[in-house]
Amino acid sequence: MTSAAAPNMVHVRAPGKINVFLKVGALQDDGYHDVAIAYQAVSLYEDVRAFPADDFSVSITGTVELSRVPTDGTNIALKAARLLAAKTRYTGGVRLEIDKHVPVTGGMGGGSADAAAALIACDALWGTELPRDAMLALAAELGADVPFALTGGTAIGTGRGDQLSPALAKGQFQWVLVLADFGLSTPGVYNELDQHRERHAQDIFPAQTQPTVDTNVLQALRAGDPHMLAETLHNDLQAPALHLQPTLTSVLELGEENGALAGIVSGSGPTVAFLAADLDGALELQIALSAARLRVVRVTGPVHGARIVSA
Ligand code: ATP
Repeated sequence: MTSAAAPNMVHVRAPGKINVFLKVGALQDDGYHDVAIAYQAVSLYEDVRAFPADDFSVSITGTVELSRVPTDGTNIALKAARLLAAKTRYTGGVRLEIDKHVPVTGGMGGGSADAAAALIACDALWGTELPRDAMLALAAELGADVPFALTGGTAIGTGRGDQLSPALAKGQFQWVLVLADFGLSTPGVYNELDQHRERHAQDIFPAQTQPTVDTNVLQALRAGDPHMLAETLHNDLQAPALHLQPTLTSVLELGEENGALAGIVSGSGPTVAFLAADLDGALELQIALSAARLRVVRVTGPVHGARIVSA
């Protein structure tokens, strides 16, 4: 049931993210790893609209390949809506419309952005007014990257990536993204990393149990200096992602040959993110990579987290 004052529709926009630093801890007995992540939210957004309804449903449109997005109860945005309803004892439902722009299974947290947007949208639609802390706790239940999609900006994530602390960041960084026409499964990439570490246990240092973000990453973010940040970009999941999809290696080389300060696989990939020195550098890189017939998007970061656009 909706009251007379309830909105007819709530539109929320939530950003995708790039992990500018990602260190993976040792495999734990429960099959998980602790991670240390420096997240940056970037200007590639998911738009979620929530309409009053008696039951729960979702429809998907968007500019990215959508065939891997479920529209049944396994859709993470629907799970978010249901979880919020259960938590707040709301007895009605919602119809969600998701307009996707973040590549699916692209390593940019598109599903997490949808979940964060659904939480904010349903909370406003239903008038449930969940306190921020409780919202962040629900977000963490849905997935390790969901709390960051709520907060946005620049943040450090530890634990499973969901224990967030804000990081100071100055200015705007210019990124050029190369989107792949295939996805990479996050568990598959972690599995490849574990196998690699097991095979080379004799020759490499064992991973820390609780990894931390290098201080030079924090300094580079604080200084707002792309040259410094380029030196410190790091992703433990890059080697396993490249092993699973060797074509990404030539994408990384092409970007670096065309003026990128550095390139990195984002999260578990396959999206590749190139850091440019400035807007001109980003535009030149965008042209060069587009000429090579790659699917390219230029974005900036940091940007805000999930927010109501209209209600
Ligand atoms: P991350 O970087 O957070 O690991 P990702 O960006 O690689 O995630 P997503 O697109 O967020 O990947 O999620 C992909 C998986 O989640 C797919 O298996 C897809 O079927 C499932 N999924 C469930 N709901 C959604 C949704 N709303 N959007 C996209 N994928 C969804």
